[in-house]
Amino acid sequence: MRGVLKRNEPLAPYTSWHIGGPADLYYRPRDLEDLVEFLGTLPSDIPLIWLGLGSNVLVSDAGIRGVVIHLLTSVDNALSSTALPIQMIPKEVFQSTGDIVRAEAGVTAAKLAKFCIKHGLTGAEFFAGIPGTVGGALAMNAGAWGGETWRQVVKVEVINRRGERSFRDPEDYHIGYRSVVGLKAAEEWFVAGYFQFQAGDSEGSNQKIKALLKQRNERQPIGVFSCGSVFKNPDNHYAGQLIEELNLKGYAIGDAEISSKHANFIVNRGQARANDVWQLIRHIQTLVLAKHQIELHTEVKFLGEFP
Ligand SMILES: Cc1cc2nc3c(=O)[nH]c(=O)nc-3n(C[C@H](O)[C@H](O)[C@H](O)COP(=O)(O)OP(=O)(O)OC[C@H]3O[C@@H](n4cnc5c(N)ncnc54)[C@H](O)[C@@H]3O)c2cc1C
Repeated sequence: MRGVLKRNEPLAPYTSWHIGGPADLYYRPRDLEDLVEFLGTLPSDIPLIWLGLGSNVLVSDAGIRGVVIHLLTSVDNALSSTALPIQMIPKEVFQSTGDIVRAEAGVTAAKLAKFCIKHGLTGAEFFAGIPGTVGGALAMNAGAWGGETWRQVVKVEVINRRGERSFRDPEDYHIGYRSVVGLKAAEEWFVAGYFQFQAGDSEGSNQKIKALLKQRNERQPIGVFSCGSVFKNPDNHYAGQLIEELNLKGYAIGDAEISSKHANFIVNRGQARANDVWQLIRHIQTLVLAKHQIELHTEVKFLGEFP
C-alpha cells in the first residue's frame, strides 16, 4: 500500500468547519489502484466513511468508529478529456458535438472547472463555486449559479467495499435537490465521473466565473470556518430568509454562530464543538417550525454519533 494510513487521526483539519473528533483509522490512497488494494485488506464488516474536502460534513466530537477513506487527488492524469472507453459511450453521446471529461472523485470541483476552460468547454463554470471534490459533488448533487452536478453526468464509476470497480448510469440513481440515492446497491462509492460539456468560449467562461464569485463574496461569509448552507431551501422559500425573520443572525451556542452576513451559514468562531453546532441546528429547526410551520432539513451530512 502506498497511501497514508493513520490511527486515531483528528478529522477537524480535514473539514471546512474545523470541527470533529478522530477517526479510528484514516486512509488517504495514493491512487485508485492503491484504494482497491487497501479495501482488499479490510474486514468485511468494518464501517467505511468517505470524505472529500469535508466542506459539507459535521463530524461528531467523539469522532468516527471505523475507517475514513479520504479521497483527495493531486495527480494530473486524474482528469482527462474524452477518456470514456468507446464501448461505454452511449451512441447519442458519442455522436454529439459536446465533449466528455473524466474526473476522478478526489479531484477538486474547481480544478474540473479550470480543466474545462483550458479545453474550450463550457457548462462547468458552476463547479468553480463548489469548494469540494468531484466525489462530494456527485454524492451531494452539488449545484451553484443554476448549474447542477448530475445534469452533466453521463456515467459514473463506483467501487464497493471489496474494491470492485464498475460503471453506473444516471438512471441507476434517484437524483434530487442536494440528494443522490443509489438504486442498485447500498454500499457503493464514487471513484470517477464522466461529464458532458459543450464546446465554447473560454474567455466568456472565465468572465462568468469571476463575476459570479464576486457576487458570492458580497453575499456570503468567506474566509471563515463554515460548511456553506446548513439547510436545504424548502419549496418556495429560502432557508436563510426564514431564519433571518426570526432575528437569529449573530445568535450563538458556544463558538457556533449564525452568520450575520447570511443566516443559512453557521460559522465556527474558533473553538466550536460539533455539539454546539448540533444544538444550534436543532434550535433553528424548532423556532422555524413554530413560527413558519415549515420543517427545515439539513444539507450538511452528520458523520459519527449524534444525540
Ligand atoms: C463556503 C462554502 C460554500 C458552499 N457552496 C456550495 C454551493 O454553492 N452549492 C453546493 O451544492 N454546495 C456548496 N457547499 C457545500 C459543499 O462544498 C458541497 O456539498 C460539496 O459537493 C461537498 O464536497 P466534499 O468533497 O467537500 O464532500 P464532503 O463534505 O467531504 O462529503 C459530503 C458527503 O459526500 C460523501 N462523499 C464524499 N466523497 C464521496 C465519494 N467519493 N463517494 C461517495 N460519497 C462521498 C461524504 O461521505 C458525505 O456524506 C459549500 C460549502 C462551503 C464551505
